[in-house]
Amino acid sequence: MAEKSKKQVKYIFVTGGVLSGLGKGITAASIGNILKHSGLRINAQKLDPYLNVDAGTLNPAEHGECFVTADGAETDLDVGHYERFLDIELTQSSSSMSGRILRDLIEAERAGRYLGKTVQLVPHFTDAIKQTVYKAAEGFDIHIVEIGGTVGDYESPAFYEAIREIADDVGRENCIYAHVVYLPYLHPSKEIKTKPAQNAVRELRSLGISPDILIARSHLTPPKASIKKLSMFSGIEMAGIVSLPDAETVYEVPLTLQKNNLAEYIANKLDLKIKQTDMKDWQKMVASAKAKHKKSVTVGVVAKYLDNEDTYISVFEALKAAAWKHRVNLEIKWIDAEKLTKSTKELGKVDGLVVPGGFGERGMEGKITAADYAIEKKVPYLGLCLGLQMAVIAVARRAGLKNASSLELDPKTTEPVIHIMQDQKDLRGTGGTMRLGNYECSLDKGSKAYKLYGQSSTDERHRHRYEVNNDYRPVLEKQGLRVAGVWPKKNLVEIIEIDDHPFFMATQFHPELKSRPNRPHPLYDGFISVLAKGH
Ligand code: GLN
Repeated sequence: MAEKSKKQVKYIFVTGGVLSGLGKGITAASIGNILKHSGLRINAQKLDPYLNVDAGTLNPAEHGECFVTADGAETDLDVGHYERFLDIELTQSSSSMSGRILRDLIEAERAGRYLGKTVQLVPHFTDAIKQTVYKAAEGFDIHIVEIGGTVGDYESPAFYEAIREIADDVGRENCIYAHVVYLPYLHPSKEIKTKPAQNAVRELRSLGISPDILIARSHLTPPKASIKKLSMFSGIEMAGIVSLPDAETVYEVPLTLQKNNLAEYIANKLDLKIKQTDMKDWQKMVASAKAKHKKSVTVGVVAKYLDNEDTYISVFEALKAAAWKHRVNLEIKWIDAEKLTKSTKELGKVDGLVVPGGFGERGMEGKITAADYAIEKKVPYLGLCLGLQMAVIAVARRAGLKNASSLELDPKTTEPVIHIMQDQKDLRGTGGTMRLGNYECSLDKGSKAYKLYGQSSTDERHRHRYEVNNDYRPVLEKQGLRVAGVWPKKNLVEIIEIDDHPFFMATQFHPELKSRPNRPHPLYDGFISVLAKGH
């Protein structure tokens, strides 16, 4: 995390209009990226008007991956974008949903803090929202706050009111409002239309917020005339309007913003001194992301939720970053875990297999089969959390424990090689009750993981309820399984490997959460490097 000081924090609020799914999170992260490249200390926070307490209970197939911070917050996938674009580690305060803020408010009411008064959305809920923003902002030059959803959503008016009031509290000159809108293209008349964007600005204005920046997303590059029209109707000067047509890679977005000198524009408005924005390193990374190589590697992703990269977005970003580093094109083949058998044809068509994290018994047998196939056919395998648990079951069954299973898959199994931790047994409910966030992992000196990390211990992020049952370690080890990493405090298995294999590695944690586009995680790096060499 950046070092902190007591200066006036400047705020950038990122809101969205017209439709959802425009890449508001990428835009917020990209604004942060160019300002960081201008020498400023940036923090970012997502405020989600949903009534959930956190993202831990949301369906990843609908809402995308649940991103876990080092301190164990279960957050929205946008927090992952912030970490990757800003190269910082965020915290619990980086993500707040209505449910949490409301829960705290109601608890305070029950405790008698508001005795005799009515508790209201304005000012009590709005004040609570503002407090989460001020707390997260402390000590940074610029704090970026993204409001989830689009203006006009039923849940969100209090959030817009809160960010409007922040300008009253800290001074309008210390705030910037950036509105992300969409310019649709009409095929019959071959025109880009600005009316929905104009209306979206008007809607934000009706809440008392006049945006300073308009980020105009579109499929194609709009003509200058459209931007002029937008400027005229929205009252935002031309320099504050940035057109953002679909990009080949999301990492290009900061470069597009900077082509418009957005960092200077923002610094001017906020009266901040910045150094010359230097995007050279980022440009290099984007060039390698866009490069086409002679060699391709095909990774089979064995999953229950198919065809939506957002569900496992950090996994894909980590695989991509490693592929860019090793100068290979990355091809993904989705393999349906629920239908997977030893004779599934796709298994023979991939260079390596990834079994990502997951919950619930659906597709588990297929994942165990995939791990078994990888062991037998010496196909490189990377297992992530559930992918470790399934690999352990595969090894145990190969060792002759025919009933080996996980208590999550078969609560009555007589050979629970994956079981539940003693201190988790008594926990009730599903929200925030797992092993979450950073835990130490100490590495076995003879392991591949040790070589890849280049150090004897590391911290990695967790999100799981089940663990490898240590009673079975001797059988597993006899079968060729190496416990390459453990959490020393409780001697829990963190990494497994098979020595007599081109690459068979699985982690109880999620290494992808710490990967960066220009610095792939060492284990992903190791996996792709084996595929690139064509083991
Ligand atoms: N369902 C498994 C557990 O709870 C694995 C979780 C995961 O893959 N994140 O332990």
